[in-house]
Amino acid sequence: MAQATSTQQKDLFEFSAEEEPPGHSATEVEEPPSLRLLRNRQRFFSNVPDENWNDWKWQFRNRITSVEELSKLTPLSIRDQVNMTLVTEKFPISITPFYFCLINPDDPSDPIRKQALPAYEEIALSGILSEDPLEEERDSVMPGLVHRYPDRVLLVVTDICPMFCRHCTRKREWRRGRWVRPAEEIDRMMDYIRSDRRIRDVIISGGDPLTLSTRHLESIIQKIRGIEHVEIIRIGSRVPVVLPQRIDDELCGMLSKYSPIWLNTHFNHANELTDEAKAACEKMLRHGIPVNNQSVLLAGVNDSVERQLKLCQGLLKAKIRPYYLFQADEVEGTEHLRTTVEKGMRIIEGMRGHTSGLAIPTYVIDLPGGGGKVPLQTSYLISRAEGQLVFRNYLGKIYRYHNPKPPASAAGRNARPRVNDLQMALELVAV
Ligand code: SF4
Repeated sequence: MAQATSTQQKDLFEFSAEEEPPGHSATEVEEPPSLRLLRNRQRFFSNVPDENWNDWKWQFRNRITSVEELSKLTPLSIRDQVNMTLVTEKFPISITPFYFCLINPDDPSDPIRKQALPAYEEIALSGILSEDPLEEERDSVMPGLVHRYPDRVLLVVTDICPMFCRHCTRKREWRRGRWVRPAEEIDRMMDYIRSDRRIRDVIISGGDPLTLSTRHLESIIQKIRGIEHVEIIRIGSRVPVVLPQRIDDELCGMLSKYSPIWLNTHFNHANELTDEAKAACEKMLRHGIPVNNQSVLLAGVNDSVERQLKLCQGLLKAKIRPYYLFQADEVEGTEHLRTTVEKGMRIIEGMRGHTSGLAIPTYVIDLPGGGGKVPLQTSYLISRAEGQLVFRNYLGKIYRYHNPKPPASAAGRNARPRVNDLQMALELVAV
């Protein structure tokens, strides 16, 4: 592999002068999300009794799925309506009433709005990127079963989601109609997992698997648990954020029978940390299901140090671990929401040292072409010579560290090809 020149390295870590420095957005005084939710509910859904509002099936049945419905709830110019209608012919719309009420109707740049409402750029910039940049379909050993890493597999059990997130990596699935994986295909997946004893980790994904009925989901989990070498099950779901009513006692009670199960959810902005969403995650935790968060770095949504700090510190307060911050994938119809890798690295650097390490997610890029996830982080190692390492800390101060010499025998035994300084720095940072 070609080594990066010093100019390339400099380019990699320096922030373009034209871009807004990620830590310098104006201090935002936001209305608490649960207060906004209450006000918007009174304004747009005042005729809906609590009994319905708190019923996940009512929320699901009453999703906003057309521009016509949307225009009754939020002022849209004729031009907006025409553009949105064109967008939804390719990339449909689906928003739960609950999530819709998190939007600030007076702010066209609202971060919740950007994730939920169609934008003309989705089709205007269409064709630049790819439908399936991660080549999940190439790595599928059969329909819906992705086996990319040796010890884990991903099961796509449905393409149904309560909300269609405009930045979704699997946007290509939205056009294929609403489907749930039939029992015969699930059984074939189980045969595959059973036949490969390396598989110890099964991720149930979609769409959103928590849109399945509890009984249906249990039938899948029960089959996975029946395979001796599977150690853990993970569920990927945005339901706690967009449809928290779904996290009921019946679901949690069922999941708790098949421990260890981990939940990976998807909060992108502190305004999504409603009392309802936090209570849903708390319920999962009380049933022994650890909750991690995987967010995506999105332009105008969470691409500043201030917004990331607020999100990650809010997650920790809710006992949710900020696990990954994803660089947005190269997915067709999402170009307007992508940010540069340099900006992401500067954001993580702006957080490091200024808050607990627990609040700092691992910033990763899922490499196009099925290359898998790799972490992205600025190096704090400045130089290395004759057993002495020189570091800068988060404030830019310089510190030296005397690196012990490895025992001669160990050095011989562990002889490895020489790595260049950049690789070495990245290895140290990973430690
Ligand atoms: S919930 Fe997940 S799978 Fe569904 S649209 Fe959003 S990002 Fe995509």
